[in-house]
Amino acid sequence: MCTTIILEPDIQQKLAILGEEASDEVADVPATQSIQQGIAHATGFVYNASREGGGTTRLFKVLQTNACRYACKYCFTSCAIRRKRTTFKPDELATTFVSLSQRRRVDGLFLSSGIVPDANTTMEKMLATVERLRLREGYTGYIHLKLIPGAAFEYVERAVQLADRVSLNLEAPNQARLSELAPDKEFAGSMWGRMAWAAELIRRARQEGRTAARSLTTQFVVGAVGESDRELLRTVQRAHRELGLWRAYFSAFHPIDRSPFAEQPAEDPTRALRLYQSDFMLRDYGFCYDELPFDEQGLLPRDRTPKQAWAERHLHTPIELNRAPRQQLLKVPGIGPKSADRIIAARRETRLRDLAQLRALGVTTKWAAPYVLLDGRRAAVQLGLW
Ligand code: SF4
Repeated sequence: MCTTIILEPDIQQKLAILGEEASDEVADVPATQSIQQGIAHATGFVYNASREGGGTTRLFKVLQTNACRYACKYCFTSCAIRRKRTTFKPDELATTFVSLSQRRRVDGLFLSSGIVPDANTTMEKMLATVERLRLREGYTGYIHLKLIPGAAFEYVERAVQLADRVSLNLEAPNQARLSELAPDKEFAGSMWGRMAWAAELIRRARQEGRTAARSLTTQFVVGAVGESDRELLRTVQRAHRELGLWRAYFSAFHPIDRSPFAEQPAEDPTRALRLYQSDFMLRDYGFCYDELPFDEQGLLPRDRTPKQAWAERHLHTPIELNRAPRQQLLKVPGIGPKSADRIIAARRETRLRDLAQLRALGVTTKWAAPYVLLDGRRAAVQLGLW
């Protein structure tokens, strides 16, 4: 049964605006969807996000303010677009969140913001909201807090102390592309540099056993300014290596009415999906950037997964699943980290001889079959027997 949350009319209006715009601003994995039933009159501010370790969680996703001094060309909140602006006071936002949380409508908070009048003032307000939740309301649940580009070290440090996850959207793979997307933003110091601070603070806290954010993420706008997949994934690989990045998010560009990019075509969402799959290859499958199957334009194939494309080019000798080490299993299309672990556990007990066994272990056999041997026999040949 749905519970209706009663909020002050003024707060409801703010929620309608700042929840709606937050949902436009932030992308998640492709399965992301809004779930809105029964929550006041506002829409679009609760969404499913992936958890570390699997599963999803319902996050209350909201902006502290939709006022912004910047004019990023892809953004709904840009100061170049005339729209109603409003701001949550820290107390209002903390109370609203607690009300939703106590009624079990949401499992956590995702707090972002427009930037006004400057980075530090914006972060002060966001941190005041989170401090009220943690210190006054005693809220111990999940908080994802955006870092504002250019914020001072003390604010980044406080964010890492209070949140479970922090993120900063790089938006573009390098300064040249960023200048086309967001002419006011500076890549190296105010964005990458702040992520490096956060990464170091997370690392130190982990080493010293202190409570702090556990992970750092970022997001890219894909397809607005002609950047290649190669450029994006080069930066992602560097972020994994240098910043211990947990995950990169890819938001396929879609034009915003009245923005400078209003006439540009939307990007194909399959492109974002292929970028996610490539990021998993880098992060979880032991591939390195040089192995990714880019074409001459630096783009990934769209008609098959990057792992299938890699296997077509490189996996000429079939892999015996009864013997192959985990690293090699992970190179086979259709075998992921979980199914690789299940194969290793299963073959301690029995010989793997048929595709039905693999299917039961979670392998996508139609992709894996051409590349594997089962007890010395080509699985692709065996396919017709079952
Ligand atoms: S800084 Fe840019 S992306 Fe962020 S809210 Fe402002 S205009 Fe939008």
